[in-house]
Amino acid sequence: MAMNIILLGPPGAGKGTQAARLVDERHMVQLSTGDMLRAAVRAGTPIGLQAKAVMEAGELVSDAIVSALIGERLDAAESTTGAIFDGYPRTLAQAEALDFLLGERGRQLDHVIELAVDEEALVDRITGRFTCAICGEGYHDRYKQPVSAGACDVCGSREFKRRADDTEETVRTRMAEYRAKTAPILPYYEALGLVRRVDGMAAIEKVGAAIDRILDHGSLASTGAD
Ligand SMILES: [Zn+2]
Repeated sequence: MAMNIILLGPPGAGKGTQAARLVDERHMVQLSTGDMLRAAVRAGTPIGLQAKAVMEAGELVSDAIVSALIGERLDAAESTTGAIFDGYPRTLAQAEALDFLLGERGRQLDHVIELAVDEEALVDRITGRFTCAICGEGYHDRYKQPVSAGACDVCGSREFKRRADDTEETVRTRMAEYRAKTAPILPYYEALGLVRRVDGMAAIEKVGAAIDRILDHGSLASTGAD
C-alpha cells in the first residue's frame, strides 16, 4: 500500500541513511525539492524552464512552482509507490499545499516521522569521532578506540583524521537551524495527530525497525486519531 510520509531529523540523526533504505527496500520515491528542481531544470520540463528562469534572475523559486513540481513527480510515481518528502514542506502554506496536492490525487499524508536526537548526546557523538586517513574506518574517542593504541584495526595505518566541522559549535548551530526550520510545521502536524517520534540516537538497525513498525502498523500514538 502506498504510504506518504515526511521524514524529519537534524543532521547526525541518520535521515539520509533511513530514506535511502526506504527507497531501496520499499521502492518509495524520495522527493527532495532541491533534487527535483535540479532534475526538472535538466530535463527541461515546462516547470523546469520556469524554475530556471526564476533562478537565473537570482530570485527564489515560488511555492507555486514547487507545488507544481511535486505534483508532476507524484503523477510520475506509480500510485502504488509511496513518497518520502524530504526538506519540504517548510512553511504552513506549503504544508497546506501538500495536503491539497495529495488530496487531488486521492492520496494522503500518513505519517510525519521525526528522528529525534538528544542535543548533548549528539554533541558527544559527533565531536568524538575520527577516521582512519587511509581506509576510512570510523572511530570514536570514548566509544571506539583502535584496539591497539594509535593503529587502525583494519589497515594498521597510524594516520587518522577529523572533520573540521565536527565541532560542538557546528552541532549546536545545526540543531538551532533544524528547530527553526521545523517549528512552523510541527504544530500543524501535531494537531493532525500525524507526528511519530523515533529515537534517532539508537543503532541504525533499531531506527530502521522502528520506522518499519510505524509504516506497517501505524504507531501507538496514532491510535484513536482519525
Ligand atoms: Zn585504516
